Amino acid sequence: MNCPECGAADDLCKSRFDEFLALEFSDMGYGAVHNLTVATYMLQHSSKLTREGWLHERNLLKEFLIDNKPPAFIRKQNKDIVDSGKRKFKIKSRDGLPVINKSTWTKTILDVRTESAEVYCADVTVWARSVLEDAETIKI
Ligand SMILES: [Zn+2]
Repeated sequence: MNCPECGAADDLCKSRFDEFLALEFSDMGYGAVHNLTVATYMLQHSSKLTREGWLHERNLLKEFLIDNKPPAFIRKQNKDIVDSGKRKFKIKSRDGLPVINKSTWTKTILDVRTESAEVYCADVTVWARSVLEDAETIKI
């Protein structure tokens, strides 16, 4: 069965995501795009997010990709929002229901190759850009 949210074949997106996180934590070359991997995957799997959380992730992705803000800067800027004590809204979904109605995307996590850190970072960026483009057309 294909993933009902991102459309990945045989529901392989979840295991691929877990593999990528392990790779990113064990090798700094791969870890360079960690912020992109997480935000992009979350945008495609909106059942993990609240509506406000989804909009927050989309905005993060835009800041990384379009405004070219470095991750450290965004982390600092978002500290108040993301510190769960101070945050004004919930990011993680409670009901597990998707907040967007979309299951066809230009690219999925399965399009990302891992043979080297260089290839990996380039592919994650291409995947993230295409998801941001798709996501920007969604009204929620
Ligand atoms: Zn999926």
